[in-house]
Amino acid sequence: MHGIPHHCILQIVLDTPLNAVFDYRWVCDAANEPRIGQLALVSFGRREVVGLIVGVAHSTEVPEGKLKDALSVREQLAPLSPQWLALAGFAADYYQRPLGEVALPGLPKNLRVLTTVALDRALKKLAKHDAVHDGTPLDMPQLNPAQQEAADAIGGAKGFKPTLLYGVTGSGKTEVYLQACAQVLAREPQGQILILVPEINLTPQLEGNIRARFPGVMLATLHSSLSEGERMLHWLAAHQGQARIVLGTRLAILASLPHLQMIVIDEEHDPSYKQQEGLRYSARDLAVWRAWQLGIPIVLGSATPSLESWHHAQTGRYRRLELRERAVKNAVLPQVKLLDMERDKPKDGLTAQLVAALRQRLERGEQSLLFLNRRGYSPVICCESCGWISECTRCTSFMVLHKPEHRLRCHHCSLEMRIPRHCPTCGNVDLQPLGRGTQRVEEGLQALFPEARILRIDADSTRKKGSAQEAFDSVHRGEVDILIGTQMVAKGHDFKKLTLVGIMNPDTALFSQDYRASERLFAQLMQVAGRAGRAAQTEGGSASEVLIQTRYTQHPLYGAVVNHDYDHFATALLEEREQADLPPYLFQALLRAEAAELATAIEFLSMARDCVEHPGITINDPIPMSMTRVHNVDRAQLLVESPSRPALQAFLKLWTETLRAMKSRVKWSLEVDPLDI
Ligand code: ADP
Ligand code: ZN
Ligand code: ZN
Repeated sequence: MHGIPHHCILQIVLDTPLNAVFDYRWVCDAANEPRIGQLALVSFGRREVVGLIVGVAHSTEVPEGKLKDALSVREQLAPLSPQWLALAGFAADYYQRPLGEVALPGLPKNLRVLTTVALDRALKKLAKHDAVHDGTPLDMPQLNPAQQEAADAIGGAKGFKPTLLYGVTGSGKTEVYLQACAQVLAREPQGQILILVPEINLTPQLEGNIRARFPGVMLATLHSSLSEGERMLHWLAAHQGQARIVLGTRLAILASLPHLQMIVIDEEHDPSYKQQEGLRYSARDLAVWRAWQLGIPIVLGSATPSLESWHHAQTGRYRRLELRERAVKNAVLPQVKLLDMERDKPKDGLTAQLVAALRQRLERGEQSLLFLNRRGYSPVICCESCGWISECTRCTSFMVLHKPEHRLRCHHCSLEMRIPRHCPTCGNVDLQPLGRGTQRVEEGLQALFPEARILRIDADSTRKKGSAQEAFDSVHRGEVDILIGTQMVAKGHDFKKLTLVGIMNPDTALFSQDYRASERLFAQLMQVAGRAGRAAQTEGGSASEVLIQTRYTQHPLYGAVVNHDYDHFATALLEEREQADLPPYLFQALLRAEAAELATAIEFLSMARDCVEHPGITINDPIPMSMTRVHNVDRAQLLVESPSRPALQAFLKLWTETLRAMKSRVKWSLEVDPLDI
């Protein structure tokens, strides 16, 4: 057959819900054999789509008349590596999704739709892109002994070594990552490093640090706000090994990195690492698998590790390294105080003590941050004469008042309307906002401190591309006196001039049904508190403070925050989880169903509960989801549990196959290791 063109069969997976491999005929010669991991253009139904070659064979069971020819093979692109295919395969198996649905959506769109010519274009651009970096590297700061020990332990590790870097906020974890990276890059001439951050807004801060530190090293970034063209370039830079550091959000975990030598997961506890739709994967968990598969070190850093990771550190599966103190000389953790809202009744949401603390910062020219995890003006408006409230007509939820835009908006289905002039039921013209969001706090503060420069940062104020970065930059430049924000401002930012953090009303989360609520609230409070006092205290300047307004000053969770005591808090929570048979001592999956009528969804789940034998697996009763209706669709869920992960996995495989075969008209989805149940 040498040199003579012959037919072969390409086995291809496509981005479809059908869990199948499709055969296509292809003419090839020995000089140009198609390879596993290459992409191919094929016709599927009436469309032309790009698929991934997972096998090359000489025969097929597809009858001759039905066999289609592949249209082209993307030969100029190096095949995705067997390790990458194994990663996609693992994710597909573990999360019970077809391989094509895992492997293909992660690739840049342009790679899938571009013609051969356009692809050659893109590659040339990349070669140019590579040439732009030079300059002298910024000096590495002298690490303190704890940092040095951590950096050496991580950077010098060989083989699969998961490390939990447990370091208080401001302890200089970033510096540890960077110096560990420097060691790996120096040792492995081709080696690549993947760094994940939870939030897109944290990439510029770290990107700046990396560029300053490693000017000769090509850095690629991967996150959802890149344009398709940029995404393509950065993805290719990683795939071809030119980019030696790849920085990204959760989606970057599926990047092709042929020479990957180390993975860093910053703020590993952050729920944003969990993809909440489509393939509901945990980027952190996949990262640990990827490191294991390649036999390389991985570091998971946090001041408030997830209980899962804490548990692994306790059992010795992860090595724990600690940074107990802030890295900047004379910077100390802020003093946390509870302000009793029963005694000091808040006006416009602010207690007199918090107002006094804000005033003091203003007088001294220092920055303050007010944290309130609720955007909009007020979460609802109501009529005091008949009791009408602004419910969303499509969701089990309320229409949020957005005053600057003069609109009511549902945050779940995006339904919008103008603020009604009078009550739709009784005609009363005096409709009142109820409760308080960031916009209302901003308005109150402006009235209170007319001379102050106040900036609100939340999803509404940062809708325009680049505006979040601009806002954070102006805080860093000291152009803001009081910053008001949601969780967007709570994570990772190194605000140097901030000496006060006020937390407005965290109490609602104390009494949530969700067993993870206290873990989350605790982490969130510790993280936002950690934004204060990151620089050395100046002479005559304020000691840094965190003031928490609460009605429950005796609550043990707040006690732990006051003492900065993650250690005991986490250990106690883990004990509770063990006694109550909850994760991480138990493994869970959630089957969700959606239908126009709740009864239909419940009926489907009841049927699903009984359709497969399930020894060793607990299947709970179907229940409506806590927010039952979203965008006119009713949603219900079924929780499946087992103390054995392999047993659960085996069951889920059989179960999803059975459910798929039923071809029910009810829309369903399965989530493995759900975070919100
Ligand atoms: P973390 O991620 O642990 O919250 P960062 O990495 O943001 O902390 O570091 C906090 C601050 O400490 C940063 O401004 C950083 O530049 C500084 N820093 C880190 N290590 C050192 C060091 N060894 N000496 C002086 N400053 C340091
Ligand atoms: Zn009314
Ligand atoms: Zn709605």
